[in-house]
Amino acid sequence: MDIKIYKYDAVIVGAGLAGLAAAKELTEAGKKTAVITKLHPLRSHSGAAQGGINAALGKDDSTELHEFDTVKGSDYLADQDAVELMCSKAPETIRWAERMGAVFSRNEEGDIAIRPFGGQSKPRACYAKDRTGLTLLQTIYEQAFRAGIEVFDEWYAGDLLYKDGKAYGVVAYNIRDSKEMAIFNAKVTMFATGGHARAYRFNSNAHANTGDALSIVARHGLPLEDMEFVQFHPSGLGGSGILISEAARGEGGRLYNSEGERFMSKYAPNAMELASRDVVSRAIMEEVRQGKGVGKDKQSVNIDLTHLDPEIILTRLPELRELAIAFQGQDMLKEPIHISATAHYSMGGIPVNINCQVRKNPNELVEGFYAAGECSCVSVHGANRLGANSLLEALFFGRHAGENMIKALDSGIELKEATEDDAKRFIEEFNRIKTSNGKERVAKLREELQNGMTADAGVFRSKESLERQLKLIDELLERYRDIRIDDKSDTFNTDLQEALELGHMLEFSKFIVVGALAREESRGGHYREDFPKRDDERFLKHTYAYMDKDYNISIEWGDVVLGKFEPMERKY
Ligand SMILES: Cc1cc2nc3c(=O)[nH]c(=O)nc-3n(C[C@H](O)[C@H](O)[C@H](O)COP(=O)(O)OP(=O)(O)OC[C@H]3O[C@@H](n4cnc5c(N)ncnc54)[C@H](O)[C@@H]3O)c2cc1C
Repeated sequence: MDIKIYKYDAVIVGAGLAGLAAAKELTEAGKKTAVITKLHPLRSHSGAAQGGINAALGKDDSTELHEFDTVKGSDYLADQDAVELMCSKAPETIRWAERMGAVFSRNEEGDIAIRPFGGQSKPRACYAKDRTGLTLLQTIYEQAFRAGIEVFDEWYAGDLLYKDGKAYGVVAYNIRDSKEMAIFNAKVTMFATGGHARAYRFNSNAHANTGDALSIVARHGLPLEDMEFVQFHPSGLGGSGILISEAARGEGGRLYNSEGERFMSKYAPNAMELASRDVVSRAIMEEVRQGKGVGKDKQSVNIDLTHLDPEIILTRLPELRELAIAFQGQDMLKEPIHISATAHYSMGGIPVNINCQVRKNPNELVEGFYAAGECSCVSVHGANRLGANSLLEALFFGRHAGENMIKALDSGIELKEATEDDAKRFIEEFNRIKTSNGKERVAKLREELQNGMTADAGVFRSKESLERQLKLIDELLERYRDIRIDDKSDTFNTDLQEALELGHMLEFSKFIVVGALAREESRGGHYREDFPKRDDERFLKHTYAYMDKDYNISIEWGDVVLGKFEPMERKY
């Protein structure tokens, strides 16, 4: 295979909010920047975000209260320096987006409208109807495009160039014609590859959210942080997991079980439906377990919005209504909708410091390597993310990463020259998969992984269920060596791409399970039935997990950055 070597100041993998925000800054500062993305930028999952983006804009709100809610929501595992930075910059970030052209919904006074979200003491989710992510993504894409970003869309990044503590680019191939493979050699490299919830059977994520970058990083012996913390969103459409945004509860949606009981009164008597997501998801699953579910298989509960003024639904939640009609035949104007907890968001990821620089271990950094957005763990969400904090994280830290990369470039960070040899490892993987003629089917292995993750590493976990899932993943990793790819062509070979993605999913799923086994406590999104209490003495720590060549995973513990908010019991 003929390998081209392109040279750039900066290469960014991912064109969602985080990647584009960084690319815009770099390009405007005159840095030669390439953005590599397996999708067209506007198809990135950021565009699917519905409900809102947080900023303390309300008259009786404050950035400190936003910080407190975020830290409390995180079950005290968030790093408080990063939380302070993000929340204090949130109002400015909204104004920045607005000045670029993002059209937010307005209140009657003409100010940016804000709505309540779970776990927040004040309304602070700014929104554009229920298409907030799409509005932001279109805006930032337009502006980045105007600045002249160079995008390699439908290119799949398969490996990181990394040697002796320094990152110097990526290897990628052109999905449209996979004969075309290239090295993007750069002084600074950034990963902004988004979430990984496709590893679960019920999930709210786009098909592309396969967490590729996580295992790409881990294969180099670099750590992943807090992977056991996966967020289950309370309101996925029953049966499919497609998201009904938290805005539905924010606007007043009520949850009922099959007996017509508004059950949140038992679990969160004050906050009710607006408790944090981990609390509401567990409550829903508990009702289902007790046989009080609704729907064909009794696996869902009802969310009822029929008491609301239809105008609210039609003007603030039009997309949600359409989704429920299209996928479930239920019109929220007229009847309750069946919902259930769905895998939604990854709190853990590639560990970075407050300047988005990737960590080699809790104490050392990788030179020239940055990450931001959902694939990263700067730890603003700790063990549980508050709704509407993730668009904020992606936009704010994406831009912040861009600014820090500019600083690194201005201070003269050098290019480590790549050679064709740097692509060798990925070419071997690529060729092995493309020519594979074994007996196992990718779709079948993926389905087994997803079913197992939902059943045994989902909302409720125990030593027994996690060990079962660990055994399954080890078996699947073994069977993955014996897959068969029927499509041997070069043009849009989705069989090949899905096989590569499955390899990544199997590996990072193992991190989720091993982390969940090691963490013998319950905190935020991670609930161990055999250890139902939070244990600050042993586990007020981040996990850093490392994988060796035989997929063995070892765990090291890192300190949490505490601050003005002392860990307390969470009550909603
Ligand atoms: C349905 C839904 C609704 C949501 N609603 C909200 C909300 O209302 N408020 C909120 O705050 N958050 C919300 N979130 C979460 C939030 O949208 C995401 O966390 C955030 O948008 C992630 O942005 P990102 O830039 O990190 O990644 P993404 O927008 O997911 O972009 C990832 C990019 O990486 C690229 N990529 C990945 N792997 C590769 C590879 N191997 N090679 C090349 N390119 C690659 C993709 O092409 C894509 O461009 C929601 C999420 C979902 C799924």
